[in-house]
Amino acid sequence: MAPSFAARTYRDDAVVLRTHKLGEADRIITLLTKHHGQVRAVAKGVRRTSSRFGARLEPFMVADLQLISGRSLDIVTQAVAKGAYGGAIAADYGRYTVAAAMTETAEKLTDVDGESGTAQYNLLVGALASLSRSDHAPELILDSYLLRALSTGGWAPSFTDCARCGAAGPHNAFSAPLGGMVCPDCRPPGSPAPAVETVLLLGALLTGNWATADASATVHRREAAGLVAGYLQWHLERVLKSLKHVERT
Ligand SMILES: [Zn+2]
Repeated sequence: MAPSFAARTYRDDAVVLRTHKLGEADRIITLLTKHHGQVRAVAKGVRRTSSRFGARLEPFMVADLQLISGRSLDIVTQAVAKGAYGGAIAADYGRYTVAAAMTETAEKLTDVDGESGTAQYNLLVGALASLSRSDHAPELILDSYLLRALSTGGWAPSFTDCARCGAAGPHNAFSAPLGGMVCPDCRPPGSPAPAVETVLLLGALLTGNWATADASATVHRREAAGLVAGYLQWHLERVLKSLKHVERT
């Protein structure tokens, strides 16, 4: 006996992470939902000009969705726009690339970790809203988002006390594998020694101290971005490895 229609239908807020074509007129939409983690769902007829979904299921859009659970893919039956960030973001190439990096990171982090889904959802929607309003420089919004998303995923960096032994900081060496700034005893050979202002900027981006972040100089933003990218790459590779492991077993 099939379960009742009501039991298989659910409603949730979601941000569209990615879409790809399916058949003639449909799309598979990868969503980060507020309460159901990452969901892959089919939007039927969405590529027809007459589609009732309009542009509500484009990347970076936030919508109140109704879905039907399926065996492998769910089906989107209704979409009401909540945050029309997609238009403002897609109109500007710099913002678009930042939003794409954020949604890609969110997809990877929530693929293996369902538990922090709501926190990751709130973080991503907040960052997309901030990006669409140009609250801060796009690269600062990105680096702040990346540091906070990794922290929420369980990889909180330390920019004050030693990331390995906890010795009181500030310290002047950075190690992505060890988790941030490290003391002279823990410092692996060849660790970069970023400028004091760069370390302050990283701390400000992590805690959301925008007054400090907005006042930072370009040279320190560039150095911070390089360290964030290294930190992200190191930890996401571990995420992806654990994902492969999950799929094998
Ligand atoms: Zn140490």
